[in-house]
Amino acid sequence: MLEPTTQPIAMIQIIPISAFDDNYIWCLYDDISQQAVVVDPGDAKPVIAALDAMQLDLVAILITHHHFDHTGGIDELVAQYKVPVYGPRSDHIDQITHHLAESDTLSIMGLDFITLEVPGHTLDHIALYCEQADGGPILFCGDTLFAGGCGRLFEGNPAMMLSSLTKLAELSADTRVYCAHEYTLANLAFANAVEPDNQALQQRISQATGLRQQGLPTLPSTIATEIATNPFLRCHQTAVIDRAKQHRQDDCADSTAVFATIRGWKDNFSV
Ligand SMILES: [Zn+2]
Repeated sequence: MLEPTTQPIAMIQIIPISAFDDNYIWCLYDDISQQAVVVDPGDAKPVIAALDAMQLDLVAILITHHHFDHTGGIDELVAQYKVPVYGPRSDHIDQITHHLAESDTLSIMGLDFITLEVPGHTLDHIALYCEQADGGPILFCGDTLFAGGCGRLFEGNPAMMLSSLTKLAELSADTRVYCAHEYTLANLAFANAVEPDNQALQQRISQATGLRQQGLPTLPSTIATEIATNPFLRCHQTAVIDRAKQHRQDDCADSTAVFATIRGWKDNFSV
């Protein structure tokens, strides 16, 4: 009897490359082909160092929005690797070679991504979601949804951002959330001010504190964890509504008003 041929199965690994003070440039790589993709390379130097150290070949760059800490490394990377750059149609990023709009798909290293437009932090913000990755769905959401928080509203309005966050909250609960900053402890301190009686939040705070004490990332998060503990995904919960009303000292008429209130509160919150 013939032995079955064993085909190596590609496993996509996802690792953070630290940049600036608290950015994560996510690097996806296939450990058989040694191909790699990076998401939001704000700085080329740590990316090149990581690729060289692991002998990886960059095959594409993915961009979520135009802010410089997400795009500043594109020119240097493209000069060295000559790879396509996928990202939103935006007046602010002229290096994008393949524009992605709502529902556009992208197949790369065996992963099929779908584009979600998630305006609010910026108007051009997109997120990339892959349902069939090893170990469950994955989401790259830049500065829209953070672990325990959400991005500031630099360009959009509260209704727009709430709609974008709701779209992400509707993804599969086991989706791993790869956001672009290590803001988790500060976000959870604010979440605790909003919902001091949330038991899931208390557990998350101790878990995240332990990870940071060991110098480890608190990411990825999951959609289920965010729904349970992130106040910006909980604007319909009684406890959050009551705290928003108390903070604003008026009647928050709907979820958008609740969201606007806690987003404004967070903007001025210090730990
Ligand atoms: Zn940003």
